[in-house]
Amino acid sequence: MAFRGVLSLHKQYLPVTDKTPMLSLGEGDTPLVRANALSQETGCEIYLKLEGCNPTGSFKDRGMVVAVAKAAESGARAVVCASTGNTSASAAAYAARAGLVCAVLIPAGQIARGKLAQAYVYGAKILAIDGNFDKALELTRELGEAGNFAIVNSINPDRLEGQKTAAFEIADDLGRAPEILALPVGNAGNITAYWKGFNEYARVKATALPRMWGFQAEGAAPLVIGKPVADPHTVATAIKIGNPASWNGAVRARDESGGEISAVSDAEIRAAYAYLAAREGVFCEPASAASVAGILKKLRDGKLKRGQTIVCILTGTGLKDVDFALSAGFTVETLPAEADALMNVLQD
Ligand SMILES: *Cc1c(COP(=O)(O)O)cnc(C)c1O
Repeated sequence: MAFRGVLSLHKQYLPVTDKTPMLSLGEGDTPLVRANALSQETGCEIYLKLEGCNPTGSFKDRGMVVAVAKAAESGARAVVCASTGNTSASAAAYAARAGLVCAVLIPAGQIARGKLAQAYVYGAKILAIDGNFDKALELTRELGEAGNFAIVNSINPDRLEGQKTAAFEIADDLGRAPEILALPVGNAGNITAYWKGFNEYARVKATALPRMWGFQAEGAAPLVIGKPVADPHTVATAIKIGNPASWNGAVRARDESGGEISAVSDAEIRAAYAYLAAREGVFCEPASAASVAGILKKLRDGKLKRGQTIVCILTGTGLKDVDFALSAGFTVETLPAEADALMNVLQD
């Protein structure tokens, strides 16, 4: 039974037919939380869309539930995807739910362990390749063309249909679209989907459109430099992509909205990640922090007009990548089990 979830909540705007199984793990309808510290610091009204609150901990669930339901509807027995981690966790969960086989292709050694653990426990067939994400996606297309697997990467239009629903929720919560939507950009499906969502919403409710601000990591910024990056690198593994599949969609979102796609450094991503946790109480994964890193950079560069309403998309939860969280050299000293010893430390 599905009382909520993306397919039920947004049915009329999705490719749902009488035959579509109403698959749900309760995805979507995520919190939009005001960022108090960030708003004060910038003089803007800043909100965080907590996509890490989805069932597998990232926004990928919104699109995956549609893609897997449509695959099941079409009679597919198995799904396949290439993944920097979150797509595989999400595909594995929804395939398990729908009773389908799931195969995931991942770049060996480049996946956050929380994501790998999810794919493993959900029972996916994990194929780690000696190559990067872009190569894994190429191979996935080949497996899809061979005909036995339904591809559930964001090159599958059902994924983008599901993901656009986040735009509806934001506009519903605010009563209008924000002036700026800031989000990390990797394979560029999400920026494409949000732009579609805001446009559909505007047609129905006659609201204004946001400007789309996409942020890539400096070492993986093909859309910023205008050509593919052969060997992308960044600590933000979810956006470590050199040749985005939805390149044209991202460029259209940027240009039609009067927005921009720019780059933030790994150091800026780390700083925003720490800021969000320590100042806003929100633990997101490194890639997600790119949106806030971008806003803070604009502020430093004097390019952030005060008084604007900005929504930053926090794409995934920090629990996905605990190794990154602890990599800054975190250690805990074991103390004598005595109140005095504890007081001494607390007084430091
Ligand atoms: C997939 C993902 C992104 C990038 O989204 P694209 O649609 O590939 O641009 C960003 N952050 C997280 C946490 C992701 O899982």
